[in-house]
Amino acid sequence: MFKVENHTETLTDTKDFMDVEYPVMEHFYTIQGEGAHTGRASYFIRTAGCDVNCWWCDVKDSWEEEGHPRLTVKELVYAAENSGAPFAVITGGEPLLHDLLPLTLGLKSAGLQVHIETSGSSPLSGQLDWITLSPKRFKKPTAEVFDYVDELKVVVLTKKDLKWAEDNAAKCPEGTKLLLQPEWETPKSIDIIVEYVKKHPEWGISLQAHKFLKVP
Ligand code: SF4
Repeated sequence: MFKVENHTETLTDTKDFMDVEYPVMEHFYTIQGEGAHTGRASYFIRTAGCDVNCWWCDVKDSWEEEGHPRLTVKELVYAAENSGAPFAVITGGEPLLHDLLPLTLGLKSAGLQVHIETSGSSPLSGQLDWITLSPKRFKKPTAEVFDYVDELKVVVLTKKDLKWAEDNAAKCPEGTKLLLQPEWETPKSIDIIVEYVKKHPEWGISLQAHKFLKVP
């Protein structure tokens, strides 16, 4: 969990944050397909903008902010609240390119828990109940994010990524859920992960279940 403290000094009233806008590629009610909360109903908010540039990225349309609508916190909170989802997942793109305080305060004021999926490469912001860190070597995580990680999810393409996974796990708090996830277009990564997890049972496997379920 991460919380910006003393937010009331800057945002004293609901109206202070409900009109703030974010570039949003898409937002929708779905089933969380990855990580510890797999299978749970959740409201996804995919912000636009990413400066990490993973060559294997499957959401390259999210990299540029331009061309995506700007939606207010009010609009996003209304949609999430009315979906009936118990929690929202803010993802990207790289959501931490934006100050998430207004959006997360809005979601929490509507009674939703707030999860984030991030590369951790920009400063933390907002009120976050669950932080999934998916570190990318193309733009490494900040030192700060490791204190707050709930779940470490490392995408694996080759054996080299296992060392990257261990290097990041060493910086996470005790009790962090450790997950290796095969890259969808790299089937050989499954064998690498299965063998590794059998030898290192502190790690588990995260699959992109939403792709099997054919939900967005
Ligand atoms: S951090 Fe995520 S959105 Fe950004 S390039 Fe990498 S996989 Fe794509």
